Amino acid sequence: MNYAVWLFAISLVSLLGERLWPWRRQSILRTGFFSDLAYIVFNSHYLGMLLALAAQQLFRLYDPTGRLSLGLMRGVPAWIQFPAVLLIFDLFQWCIHNLLHRVPVLWRFHKVHHSVTEMDWLGDWRFHWGEVVVYRTLLYVPTAVLGFDLAVLFYYGILATVAGHYAHANTRLSIGYARYLFNSPQMHIWHHCHPDSGPVNRNFGITLSVWDWIFGTAYLPQAGQPRKLGFEDIEAYPTALPGQWLEPFKRR
Ligand SMILES: [Zn+2]
Ligand SMILES: [Zn+2]
Repeated sequence: MNYAVWLFAISLVSLLGERLWPWRRQSILRTGFFSDLAYIVFNSHYLGMLLALAAQQLFRLYDPTGRLSLGLMRGVPAWIQFPAVLLIFDLFQWCIHNLLHRVPVLWRFHKVHHSVTEMDWLGDWRFHWGEVVVYRTLLYVPTAVLGFDLAVLFYYGILATVAGHYAHANTRLSIGYARYLFNSPQMHIWHHCHPDSGPVNRNFGITLSVWDWIFGTAYLPQAGQPRKLGFEDIEAYPTALPGQWLEPFKRR
């Protein structure tokens, strides 16, 4: 089954889950719905794959004999490779996500994702292509050096999509104690918290939440959720794709 079918099925299940076990009262056609649908063409789901191929070619040009590839995963069974890729990639992404919030020029690009004011599964589609370039290029380094199987990377990608859609979903469905290992809507909504509604720079986890618990950036109150999402002056931020694309390049 190719990725497009997986993405459609995961999106459909997310939509159904939100209808069956809703958390906030919110319309399917919430603010930015159609603009976020348009992001499919340019966000991590497809652009990410193209960038991975481009990074592969660049890596080959730089290292034509493959001497930088340690090939540590060559011949290792998939059931060992899969948890290895999950832990290594997720820690890498947790670090990159921290940088996206703390380095001003990177935050300009990541702000696009944080401009979602009514969160649902489709919020997992709104990413500036500049951010996707940063993630995919940096993630290609462990991929090339360790040499994971393509099939393992593909199924890791499926798991990451499931986790990403779930973490953004407007659903009260909980994963119980697994929340200390995996990201969840109850944690990720606080990552999108407006500074007026609660703490900022918490819950950087992508697929896993475990790094936030280990490094002290986890925030998960017993109940409730932020009154408002976003960042300072979000009212002046563009609400549709073209404006959101141009925003990071504007002169301050
Ligand atoms: Zn973020
Ligand atoms: Zn998010």
